[in-house]
Amino acid sequence: MSGAATRVLYVGGLGRSGSTLLDRMLGAVDGVCSVGELVHLWERGLGQDLRCGCGRRFGSCPFWRRVGELAFGGWDTLDLAEVLALKGSVDRNRYVPLMVLPGLSRSYRARLDRYLRLLERLYLAVGQASGRPLLVDASKHASHGFLLRRLGRVDLRLVHLVRDSRGVVFSWTKRMRRAEVPAGDALMATGGPLRLSLRYLGHNLLFHLLGRLGVPGLRLRYESLVRHPAAELARVLALAGRPPQPGDLGFVGDGWVELTPGHALAGNPMRFRSGRVPLAVDEAWRARLPGRHRLLTLAATWPLLLAYGYLRRGGRGR
Ligand SMILES: [Zn+2]
Repeated sequence: MSGAATRVLYVGGLGRSGSTLLDRMLGAVDGVCSVGELVHLWERGLGQDLRCGCGRRFGSCPFWRRVGELAFGGWDTLDLAEVLALKGSVDRNRYVPLMVLPGLSRSYRARLDRYLRLLERLYLAVGQASGRPLLVDASKHASHGFLLRRLGRVDLRLVHLVRDSRGVVFSWTKRMRRAEVPAGDALMATGGPLRLSLRYLGHNLLFHLLGRLGVPGLRLRYESLVRHPAAELARVLALAGRPPQPGDLGFVGDGWVELTPGHALAGNPMRFRSGRVPLAVDEAWRARLPGRHRLLTLAATWPLLLAYGYLRRGGRGR
């Protein structure tokens, strides 16, 4: 394995904010390798052998097999149960204070160091296997971003992807209603929006902190990415040190993008789509989020909505 650093563009934010779309768009740029949600590699790739973005099972995908060889001399050299237990004891949002100040707990520090060694080998191997100078990791989780910040040979850049909290809440409650029908509906009506709003606050604030710790980054609104894809992609690529050259964004059209298959892990089913994909901002919440959910969400998350520019007069995210 070479000792060179790998540049990683990390897409962080709450789920249902368009991260898979952003990951796929970036993956269509020359010199960029998008790998989906690498945080789930152990469990969903190694453990469950789920399908890679290329359509093959993880275990039969030549790209991921190569990564395993470069990183560890083959995936079978790893004890999966041990790795999962280690990850579970290190990679949680509640341990973020210890990730920032690991000196506070000697036993956490030891586990952290062991897990970071695994992650560093993994990320360097992905970079090497892809042969591309820029990796995009759309893992989203805040805690995972704090871990990557500690990898000495990973040059980390952060895209903090945000979306209007009312859209996020609508999207999640819709999904939960599907999963919990019919009895869950009454519960959802009260507990759901508030719980989700608090998660929205907590999760996004962690990314503010990550930025304050010196990780170069920018904030990107989902709504703006969909409305102005070329301009926003150019901004993101500039952050990653690769401002687009003429022709680099030829796959972005007026209201559509042309996607190519990749090796993305996890993420929503959109990662299997290729060819021309229409772009339209999903704002179903404006018509369908019940009034009291909307009020509750607004009351709980307004400081961030204000900071992100969602409360401007007529402001539909630029
Ligand atoms: Zn693959």
